[in-house]
Amino acid sequence: KETVEVPILIIGSGYGGAVSALRLCEAGKKVVMLEMGLNWEKSGVPFSNMLKPGKSAAWLKKKTIAPFMNIFSLTPFTGTLDRMDFENINIWIGRGVGGGSLVNGGMAVTPKESYFKEVFPDLDAEKFYNHYFPLVHKELKVNVIGEQFLKDCPYYKFTRVGEAEAHKAGFKTIRVPNVYDFQYMEKEYRNEVPRSAFNTEVIYGNNHGKNSLDKTYLKKALETGNLEIMDLHCVENIKLNDDKTYTLQVQQIDTSGAVVSDKVFNCKKLILAAGTMGTLKLLLQSNAVNNLPIHEQIGKNWGNNGNFMTGRNWVKPLSGGTGSKQSTIPVGGIDNWDDKEHPFFTEIAPLPMGMDVATALYLLINRVDKKGEISYDSTNKKLSLDWNETHTAKMRENADYFIKKMNRANGGTRSHFLFNNGFGADVCYHPLGGCVLGKATNEYGKLKAHENLYVLDGSLIPGTIGVNPFVTITAIAEYCVENLITQNEFA
Ligand code: FAD
Repeated sequence: KETVEVPILIIGSGYGGAVSALRLCEAGKKVVMLEMGLNWEKSGVPFSNMLKPGKSAAWLKKKTIAPFMNIFSLTPFTGTLDRMDFENINIWIGRGVGGGSLVNGGMAVTPKESYFKEVFPDLDAEKFYNHYFPLVHKELKVNVIGEQFLKDCPYYKFTRVGEAEAHKAGFKTIRVPNVYDFQYMEKEYRNEVPRSAFNTEVIYGNNHGKNSLDKTYLKKALETGNLEIMDLHCVENIKLNDDKTYTLQVQQIDTSGAVVSDKVFNCKKLILAAGTMGTLKLLLQSNAVNNLPIHEQIGKNWGNNGNFMTGRNWVKPLSGGTGSKQSTIPVGGIDNWDDKEHPFFTEIAPLPMGMDVATALYLLINRVDKKGEISYDSTNKKLSLDWNETHTAKMRENADYFIKKMNRANGGTRSHFLFNNGFGADVCYHPLGGCVLGKATNEYGKLKAHENLYVLDGSLIPGTIGVNPFVTITAIAEYCVENLITQNEFA
């Protein structure tokens, strides 16, 4: 087996991995990053859109897996979108250089300060709101849609209708910032540049417009000359050596998923940034297979960030309607967080199916008062998740309250078109927790029971943050890596 020696190794190229890479490279450290997904830019393979799913549509599957559109046949390819299925919940995950930033809707939402303080009572909130969040906004190139454009553009009828109906029902709406370049979007509307958001591109990657991590943090990190990204390298398990270094078994695959080479990586410092599910799988599986020491908090305090999908259909399609043309980039939300009885935030989500399906789609984000737990099932060699309807009961109640209030004011029915009973409790885009900051790790992400192993990704957040999570994941990673560097952890 080929053996590779590296001083600092990062697993995963999503938000946590990209931040760690940039700050370590800027500090003059040589870093190797292993990513199981494809480097799309280097490969030259274009991303496909939602109406014509192609190579980028799914991670080694024979059929598409996007919610409501899992009907197209595919030739298995290392696509951008993956899904992990558990008994009561399906979790969607981004794969490729850039992780979740390739497939996500780019909504860049800063959490409410009061909730941030509740979730992270030990962090200095002032420092986050004055320094880390603004820093992250700058690095991720967060911007806001122009109000006039939003008012005029037919591709945003779904947002205008959604907001008008919310107001009529007595809800408060907010404008949601995004990493999609709205200057580019205005040009694509005028047909001056190739279309992306207006060409149903998002969940299988955007060919233009979206400032995913390969265009921001990772690009800057590569420019230092200190970062090497090895794509199509899947870490199988981790072993702790007697001298406190780590040995990783790694499979290099081709784009059909076939293993082309088995490799061994030895490193002194290891950063796990494989995303909540990836990091937990590596830790728990390595514990089962290699006796990797793990703290008793690993797997605990997992949550779906209160994700709960629901939708409405209009009784008379033409009376409402969200339009046949829809941008894939959401810019509106309904903020009901301060309601003591029914606190939730919901995204006014697009449903770009290429025709007016007279359906409004919402992704609610609720509190997660009852947390789940992830463990490893040695018999079946996979993760198991303690998560059932008792965990989502309050989310369902909120969704029911929301839909009823919207329908009473505006007409319409609960959407049976999208979901069996009108509710999608099983749709999760935001898995968080299981390796919580200060519980399973020290105050800066160094794993308890280890001297050279760190976790820097969504698993640090205890299952909930009240809004779409990547701004918070990025800010926490900035905070942790800055302090780890200051403490000479990577000297
Ligand atoms: P990730 O971004 O998940 O990155 C982890 C990386 O590690 C992946 O590239 C993975 O392939 C790699 N990896 C995993 N295991 C291994 C292994 N064993 N070996 C090698 N590599 C490995 N959030 C928002 O804030 N706003 C949104 O609008 C939004 N929309 C979303 C839409 C969808 C469809 C989805 C799925 C998610 C969305 N999210 C959104 C969530 C957001 O993308 C994630 O919370 C975020 O990407 C998590 O960041 P992370 O750093 O924890 O890990």
